[in-house]
Parts: sequence; C-alpha cells; structure tokens
Amino acid sequence: MSAAFDAVVIGGGPAGSAIARLLALWGHSVVVLTMAADAARGAAESLPPSTRKLLATIGVLESVDGAGFYRTTGNTVWWGMREGHVERFDASGEASGYQVYRPELDRILLAGAADAGAKVLCDARVRRVQLEDDACAQVEYQRDGQRSDAVTCRFALDASGRAGVVARRGFRRHEPGFLTQAFVGEWKRDAGWDLPDDSHTLVETCTAGWAWSVPLSATIRHVGVAVDGATTRVRRGPTLQGTYRAEIGKTRQLSGLMAGATLGRVWACDASLYSAHAYAGPQFLLIGDAASSIDPLSSFGVKKALASAWVGAVAVHTCLTHPDRQAVALDFFSNREQQVYAASLRRSCAYAREAYERHPHPFWAERAGTTVPPANGEIDEDTLFRAPDVQAAFRRLKESPAIELSLSGGIGVRQCALIHDREIVIDEAISLPEAPDGVRFIAGVDLLKLGEMACRHRQVPDLFEAYCRAYGAVPLPSLLGSLSVLLARGVLEAR
Ligand SMILES: Cc1cc2nc3c(=O)[nH]c(=O)nc-3n(C[C@H](O)[C@H](O)[C@H](O)COP(=O)(O)OP(=O)(O)OC[C@H]3O[C@@H](n4cnc5c(N)ncnc54)[C@H](O)[C@@H]3O)c2cc1C
Repeated sequence: MSAAFDAVVIGGGPAGSAIARLLALWGHSVVVLTMAADAARGAAESLPPSTRKLLATIGVLESVDGAGFYRTTGNTVWWGMREGHVERFDASGEASGYQVYRPELDRILLAGAADAGAKVLCDARVRRVQLEDDACAQVEYQRDGQRSDAVTCRFALDASGRAGVVARRGFRRHEPGFLTQAFVGEWKRDAGWDLPDDSHTLVETCTAGWAWSVPLSATIRHVGVAVDGATTRVRRGPTLQGTYRAEIGKTRQLSGLMAGATLGRVWACDASLYSAHAYAGPQFLLIGDAASSIDPLSSFGVKKALASAWVGAVAVHTCLTHPDRQAVALDFFSNREQQVYAASLRRSCAYAREAYERHPHPFWAERAGTTVPPANGEIDEDTLFRAPDVQAAFRRLKESPAIELSLSGGIGVRQCALIHDREIVIDEAISLPEAPDGVRFIAGVDLLKLGEMACRHRQVPDLFEAYCRAYGAVPLPSLLGSLSVLLARGVLEAR
C-alpha cells in the first residue's frame, strides 16, 4: 500500500504540534489528528528558562513570548529538610521561565504547526492504528458527528500523551513504586498573595506526598497535590472537592497560603511514571508523554516533550530522505528517549531520598529505594563530573595560572550516530571507559572540538569564549566539567 502522507501525528499537545511543525517546515506532508482539549482540566504549568532554546529551534519562541504568559524568576521549595529554599533562575545565568496556561500554550503551538503547512484536524479522535507493513501505517479516526475515516502514512507518530494510542499496544512499561495520583484546584485571591516573589512556583513535601503551586497571574494560582496512586480512590462530583481540600489540609505552607482564597474548579489526574519497551519501529515513533512520563515535580515535562519532538523529527526526516540510515536513526531516537527517562527517574529517586530524611513514610521509602540501571549508551554526567580523578583535574585547572595541553597519542576514536543539523549521521566520537562505543557530547559540549581547541589556548576564559563563539553557547560549568573529563581520562595531557 502506498502512503498518502509522510507522517500522521496523533495528538496536538506540545509534542505533536512541535514534530508536525518541524516536519512540515522540512518539506514533508503531515496531518495532525487531535481531540479538542477538555477546558475543565486546563492546568497551569511551569516551564524553565532553558525551554526557550527549544522553542527557538521549533520557530515558535516569538509567538510564545508574545502570548503574555506570567514570567517567573524561580522556585521556592520546602523539600525535606530544606525550608523556604529559593532557587533563582538567574543564579544559573538563565532568563526567566514561563508560567503557562496549557490550553493557551497548546493553541499557539498547534497554530505553529498549521502555519508551517501541516493539515490540522482539531476534532478528530484516533480510534485505531494499523502498522500495515514495513513502509506504511493506517490511522483510523472519527470527527465529531461524522463517520469513521482512515488515512495512510509512512510514519504514525504517537503524540497522544498518557492516552498512548500506539504506546498502549504492548509498548508501555509502568514504573513500579511511582504510582501517583494528582489533585489540582484553581484558587483566586483578589488581594494577591503576600509572598517575597509571587511569580515563583512553590513546592513542598508532606508525610506521604508533595504539593505545588503555579501562579497564572498575581491573583490566580493552581495548587496541586500528588499522593500515592496505589491507595488513593478518586470519586468524582462533590466528593472530589472534599478529597482535594483534605489533601491540601495536610500541607504546612500551601494550606496556610490558601486561607482567605476562593477555590474554583478541581480536577484529578493520573501522574504515574512510565516508559516504553520500544520507542520506535519501521512505521511508528512514540513522542513526548506517549513515550514516557517523568515526575511532574521536575517541571520538565513540556521541555522533554519538545525535545522528544525535535529528535523525533530529525529521525523521521533522516528515514524519509536517507532510507539506508533508517535503522541508525530509529536506534538513535530510542536510545535517547531511554537515556532521558533514566536520568529523570534517577533525579526523582534522589529527591525522594531527601524527602525520606524528613518523612520516613512508605510513600517516600519506596521511591527512595528504587535503583535505576544505566540506559543503553547513557553516561551519568553527574556521577562522572563528581568522580575523584575528574574533580582532581578540575582543581588542577582552577589552580593553574595557564593551561598548556595536547591531545594524547593513545586517544580511541570510534564511529557513532550524531545529530547534524536536521539529520542523523555517523561521525567520530571519543571512547571513554564509561562509553567504550564512543561519546561525542557531554553536558552539551562537543568533546572532539573542545579537545582540539584546548590545545590552542593558554587561558580557560579564552577557550570558553572561543568555544561558545564557534559552536554555540554552553554553560561554563559544563565546559569546565568536560575539559576535566578529557584530562582525567587521558584524552588531553599537560605538556
Ligand atoms: C499533575 C501534573 C503536573 C504537571 N506539571 C508540569 C509542569 O509544571 N511543567 C511541565 O513542563 N510539565 C508538567 N507536567 C507534564 C506535562 O503536562 C506533560 O509532560 C506534557 O503535557 C506532555 O506533552 P505531550 O504533547 O507529550 O502530551 P499531551 O500534552 O498529553 O498531549 C496529548 C494530546 O493528544 C491528544 N489525544 C489523546 N488521545 C487522542 C486520540 N485518541 N486521538 C487524538 N488525539 C488524542 C490530547 O487531546 C492532547 O492534545 C505535569 C503533568 C502532570 C500530570
């Protein structure tokens, strides 16, 4: 069967809109089939400043900036033993983040897909996907008040989030110990809230869960609470408000803060974690939350969905334009999805260990006790940067008035898959004990280019400036960490 479209995107959330826009911009025929969002569950979500880079890559930064979302300078957290700890974004050299009303963000991103030439059907519920043969999929859908229809495509891109239209066909893998139920309510206080910085996301731990609050304006905040999904029953109707109020009543900071505010709509949603056994096949990819769901507490869900869409678009574009590289491209996408999920789950476990110190409850014990094996080809950057020999190399760099480095003769070079512009290509990478098959980037820094460039500079600030000018801005700690790894692992040596 020949395919009518290059790609059918199932779902018009951040992941679906972003991949549809990129593929359409790159000359492919794309249709987006999405259901109208349920306004009663429209949530406030927090996007860190680092999301801006992805929004720019997708070409929607200007529209998002123009939407007038409440801007935020950071978070204030009461996490475990930390009491009112302020995390300011500008302390890490980043601009402000966004406190978005999701239906509005989704509308902007979907308009971006249509503007790029994707055909968008906003009232289409996908009923079934048949992965026909190795070169075609058939997607059956129904529009409001109409009979079922079907469309064929080269790739069915499941961006249907938790619904997982394709993902639930045996690919989804639930994370034991991370069954989570969330309750969210919208609060209004005409006089605003008396906070040192009312733009902040507030987060606090409780005995058996955690709570958060995201402002949409100076007078409206959404307040959520996450509890054990295995033991909590959700009952709709008036009981839902009662359950929500009871859970908020268990918090120390947020319950006090909401005193005197008016509670509006309340809704419940599943916030359990999951990943997938496989993320891609010859005719499908799982994108964004369809592929995996990370802890909402990270505030990285939308950013992760956009990144998944970008790498997914690169993989699909490579398959469509260079079929000989299809297996490499799909493997690259799958490995990256696995790595992102593993790194995020590891961070959730670390947060749970912190919370457990204050709240020794089974809710935290189970999460804190989870061990996360490394994903295929994953380098645990935090552990690598903290390794004693890497720390020692870092101290030597800091204490030396000047650097004089050369590439060591015994450096192992391997071939590995990389993103170059909008394609996945095979290029050179460095073999490290942690990545014997080769790694090209650590913390976003190109190790080969850094190694070559380090030999031509005597001052670290000059090297940093030259690197950022040639290969794009990276944070100074990432460059220093990567340089220390190259020294500690003998890729570079002092002359
Ligand atoms: C309680 C909670 C709080 C969160 N807070 C934050 C936060 O503060 N910051 C943050 O970055 N992330 C947060 N997240 C995570 C974030 O919501 C998700 O990561 C993000 O929505 C993923 O985007 P997506 O496009 O992959 O999926 P979704 O946004 O879920 O989009 C899926 C789309 O598919 C459509 N769809 C579903 N089924 C079908 C079908 N059969 N046919 C057609 N269309 C279909 C849906 O209507 C929807 O438009 C939170 C999550 C939860 C649960």
